[in-house]
Amino acid sequence: MNNPYLLLTPGPLSTSETVRLAMRKDWCTWDHEYMQLVQKIRQQLVNIATHQRHEYTSVLMQGSGTFTVESVIGSVIPREYSKLLIATNGAYGNRIAQIAGILGIQTVISRTNENEPTNILKIEQYLQTDQTITHVVVVHCETTTGILNPVEEVCKLAKTYNKKTIVDAMSSFGGIEIDVHEWKIDFLISSANKCIQGVPGFGFVIARIEELEKCEGISHSLSLDLYDQWKTMEESHGKWRFTSPTHVVRAFDQALLELEEEGGVRARHRRYSENQLTLVGGMSKIGFEPFVLREYQSPIITSFQFPNREFEFIPFYQHLKKEGFVIYPGKVSEVLTFRIGTIGEVYKNDIERLIQSIKK
Ligand SMILES: *Cc1c(COP(=O)(O)O)cnc(C)c1O
Repeated sequence: MNNPYLLLTPGPLSTSETVRLAMRKDWCTWDHEYMQLVQKIRQQLVNIATHQRHEYTSVLMQGSGTFTVESVIGSVIPREYSKLLIATNGAYGNRIAQIAGILGIQTVISRTNENEPTNILKIEQYLQTDQTITHVVVVHCETTTGILNPVEEVCKLAKTYNKKTIVDAMSSFGGIEIDVHEWKIDFLISSANKCIQGVPGFGFVIARIEELEKCEGISHSLSLDLYDQWKTMEESHGKWRFTSPTHVVRAFDQALLELEEEGGVRARHRRYSENQLTLVGGMSKIGFEPFVLREYQSPIITSFQFPNREFEFIPFYQHLKKEGFVIYPGKVSEVLTFRIGTIGEVYKNDIERLIQSIKK
């Protein structure tokens, strides 16, 4: 049951064999045992997200991460008398702007360069000058570059202005310690196939109950209505409204167990950091430099600049694939880059093997 290659592409990312084996059973979607499993997972997610457990709930949503982002944006921001301030420095922040545009939600965009973290002063200026802003959204690890944004500062600042806060922590939740209560996050979004190390199929939201309760009837989508999904999961004790990705949920349960066995988020963060430092150290010896400054760099994924004009990504990619590694093309708009992820069932010795393959 060996994989053809290691996925250094978050995500999907490389999962453990035991996570994949958990999918070899068929599970009924409305059976009591299955619903109990869903309830257990929901509680575990809240436990990972905060020490203030009774103030938060979690909701699972079918689809890839973007479906959950769209579900939150469409279910918590009414189209009238609301305005969303979007901090962006990459493709995922821009995607939130695109979603808000399609949903007819008023927005203000606070843009920073792709190699610079979200600018707190700029955010504050918007909050001071535009009193019609009601919600603020920011991406934690902008997977476009691997840059880490000061989410805690942004959300705490937004709360001093009484705004509701939304965080896309898709690629960081489970791999970087976050406390939604301490950081003053009302809605945090992530998905199964990133740092929890499950397989793709659903996303989830950690929501402040007090805020989620206010969201009845806001969504103009039936299937992406976060409030409705939550109500059904609560009232029917773990039931999803429509067919749930049962195999994926089963694998996710196993992935949560393995996160705990590893020592929780802190231990996982340590492993990812070690992977990333090994990667950058090895790459720089061969002549590849990261796009983002070290102080802003996350342990999740790293963008490397092309070393010279002759460098071509496709042959490089093909060579590495033959060697057993799949990497990502770049997503930065103005500079030629490629990306290598350091999350998933990936260890320091894998990164060392990768560096040897790149040297060839
Ligand atoms: C992966 C990711 C998403 C969701 O992408 P999907 O392809 O829909 O799973 C959203 N935001 C960030 C920051 C991500 O890393």
